[in-house]
Amino acid sequence: SLDPSSLVAFEDAAAGHDGILSDSTGDLFIKPCTPAEIAFYESSLASHPSFAALMPTFMGTLRLGSPDQTLAAQASTSGVTPGTAASLPLSDPGLWRGKKLDTQTAIVLENVASGFSRPNIMDLKLGARLWDEDAPPEKRARLDKIAAETTSSSLGFRVAGMRVWQGARGECVDEKASEDTVSQTAEGGQAKDAKGEGGDDGYKVYDKMYGRKFTADNVKEAFWEYLRSSRTGVDERLAIGLIKCFRLAKRFHDDVSAIEECLEQQESRMISASVLFVYEGDPTTRNEAWAVAEESPRFQPGAQAEVDSEVNSARQGETDNDGSLDEDDDDDDDDDASPKLSVTKMIDFAHAKWTPGLGPDENVLQGVRSIRKILLEIFIALFKQWKEQL
Ligand code: ADP
Ligand code: MN
Repeated sequence: SLDPSSLVAFEDAAAGHDGILSDSTGDLFIKPCTPAEIAFYESSLASHPSFAALMPTFMGTLRLGSPDQTLAAQASTSGVTPGTAASLPLSDPGLWRGKKLDTQTAIVLENVASGFSRPNIMDLKLGARLWDEDAPPEKRARLDKIAAETTSSSLGFRVAGMRVWQGARGECVDEKASEDTVSQTAEGGQAKDAKGEGGDDGYKVYDKMYGRKFTADNVKEAFWEYLRSSRTGVDERLAIGLIKCFRLAKRFHDDVSAIEECLEQQESRMISASVLFVYEGDPTTRNEAWAVAEESPRFQPGAQAEVDSEVNSARQGETDNDGSLDEDDDDDDDDDASPKLSVTKMIDFAHAKWTPGLGPDENVLQGVRSIRKILLEIFIALFKQWKEQL
């Protein structure tokens, strides 16, 4: 059950507002939100299951900021105890940085970055039109201007933010990468090292201004920047790094392709929703995740049990060699215990609704198709480079 006094600031946001929380296990993502976002999760689960599978798992809701400055949990589903209440000082700067809450309700979701040891995150904000029908004229004008000046209008999406693991302080895994990043962003200084909090100083953070600088002709560079670190720590041989990066780009491409297919068959309007990519940023954990993915039973129908035992004994071997894994994890049959390679989700449904009769959401689909095409070009380029190395 959820003890509200154990809530902590969420550290893995690539973009968006302050005020996001997590629990002590890190499994939950708790965001102040509008009733519309909760309603969209509920209606998706009830009547759009194929799309719901592309969203983070909906765990329930919390009521925030009652007049006596306490937080009362009024959760509606398992994992969270209904009616729990505990004191949470709203002034705690660690939890409620900046923005005053303009809502009393928070949504509780699966943290899609949990289960990764160093999640590398990319948030792509969808749509050329970024305002809802109820937005006042000034807001429409402001958002239209940002869209016109960014890839939002030309491609139907823009990079909203990224976090990429660079290695702990003093053991940067890719010196070249850091230098490039610094020089590329020196003029505006929009990529910076995350500071001290929680000791995660090894992340490079790319804020919303970073993504606004790209044009349709060069936005691919942001994807290279995001994917590049997947080539580190694999092997000294370049070819292996190329093929791993190729396969990661292909995985994201296939995920986006599935989102595209799903949205083409649905009638929805989503203003300012995002595609969220996550992949493992820690080279050692990522190698373990690759080992599991490569042995995946989906490539060997009917051989599940055999493959499972092979994978388990391979992982057991690694445990014996470096002694750093918790051996208890291997006794756990839960799939979540396996290291994850990557995850793709649709997020941010503050202005989303199902709209029967209106046809597919072309505003969102334009962006989804642009993202898929860029990933296609990237994985083809990587494949060609890999062939040349052979
Ligand atoms: P906002 O309305 O503030 O933009 P979002 O829903 O987009 O809120 O969330 C802000 C950020 O938090 C996103 O950029 C993403 O990095 C992260 N995020 C959102 N949902 C989840 C989730 N379920 N699990 C993990 N991270 C998430
Ligand atoms: Mn967002």
